[in-house]
Amino acid sequence: MSEARKSYDNITRLLMEHHRLFRRAIPLIASENVPSPAVREALTTDFGNRYAEGWPGERIYAGCSFIDQVELICIDLAKRLFDAEFVDVRPISGVTANLAVYTAFTNYNDIMFALSIPCGGHISMGRQAFGGTAGSVKGLQVEYFPYDYDELNIDVDETKKKIDELVKGNKAPKLAMFGGSVLPFPHPVKELAEAFQNCGAKVAYDAAHVSGLIAGKAFQDPLREGADAVTMSTHKTLPGPQHGMVVSWNKYSEQIKRAIFPGLVSNHHLHAVAGVAIALAEMLEFGNEYAQQIVRNSKTLGQALHEKGFTVLGEKKGFTQSHLIWVDISKYGDGGTLEAELEKANLIVNRNLLPWDIKMGRHYTNPGGIRLGTSEVTRLGMGEREMTDIAEYIKRVIIDKESSEKIGLDVAEFRKEFQKVHYCFENATEAYEYVKIR
Ligand SMILES: *Cc1c(COP(=O)(O)O)cnc(C)c1O
Repeated sequence: MSEARKSYDNITRLLMEHHRLFRRAIPLIASENVPSPAVREALTTDFGNRYAEGWPGERIYAGCSFIDQVELICIDLAKRLFDAEFVDVRPISGVTANLAVYTAFTNYNDIMFALSIPCGGHISMGRQAFGGTAGSVKGLQVEYFPYDYDELNIDVDETKKKIDELVKGNKAPKLAMFGGSVLPFPHPVKELAEAFQNCGAKVAYDAAHVSGLIAGKAFQDPLREGADAVTMSTHKTLPGPQHGMVVSWNKYSEQIKRAIFPGLVSNHHLHAVAGVAIALAEMLEFGNEYAQQIVRNSKTLGQALHEKGFTVLGEKKGFTQSHLIWVDISKYGDGGTLEAELEKANLIVNRNLLPWDIKMGRHYTNPGGIRLGTSEVTRLGMGEREMTDIAEYIKRVIIDKESSEKIGLDVAEFRKEFQKVHYCFENATEAYEYVKIR
């Protein structure tokens, strides 16, 4: 057999193994989800081999008549779900969507407010010193939102003070980027939008994580609270394919469109646009029920872990109002080691910095926390009862230190009844079924 053929067979085998892993594991990564079979089907279509460029109806390429129709449906569905005047579905990821907003609203060297990474910010909002996108790609000076450890949220009064000081020093911010990667509670957009806009800053909200909750009316609604634009990934709580989107107001449409094309994308992954359109239609039909169940599940998981002895952050506020919970596991070990131990037990989670970790000398490879999200397990049909079961599996690994291999077998057994995607129109194909079209 040729080397090429061996590699070819090996790749296929690895893909199938991956599917087998996810059939027996409990997926709790807050930034991930499982799309419906219809979304997966869209991803395999010929749309993925084409170029469009430009706006539907004004394309640079021929052969786009069906692509244009799908993209317009996608835009229309997003407008309805997010109650937005203007939507651009061409950013190929959440980071690209953020870049679009930076390009539309700022110039090099401008000052932007965002959360620091230990407090839940994302690398795409990061400073140049850490290689963050905002700093190193757009040359933005990132000022951190003052963060209240106790409330797990942006400190409104301290932020107002910081804005005043900067304005006095002739360093008025040009952009405020709310939202983040660890977002258990709604951000104070309503409380702060005016303070930013009064000094000439635009207000954006990075809904990469919570876009599905916003669409399902289970979280805050940034556009109504004063945001000028909302960026998002389409594959975290929103159960679409990996892609991005910006939703905003008509008055910003031209500058955002231009930032995206010709600014940031040439081809914009048309198969993914079709997949997003399908996911948005599913959200319009099933989204409210789905989003509410996600939040009920994460509250229940937080409570159950708390009762089993874990330090879940945000206890006095009911642990969370979103899809994720933040757990301090530092008394049992470090996040990196425990993440690996949980994976052996078929529990897929990610280690996460706690807000005070850097100050305590911890690093992102060995942080004091883990982050758990309930979107994917909710989509697999799990409810509050299963959250208590999951808390027990996690306890057996981390607190009881039982054999992970043994727990892994129990987890695989537990997972057997949850193989279908819920909250979608058709689910004859299983969630992680390996679909062959060769
Ligand atoms: C995940 C995430 C992103 C990046 O999204 P991609 O789609 O992976 O590019 C941006 N911002 C926040 C807050 C995120 O959590």
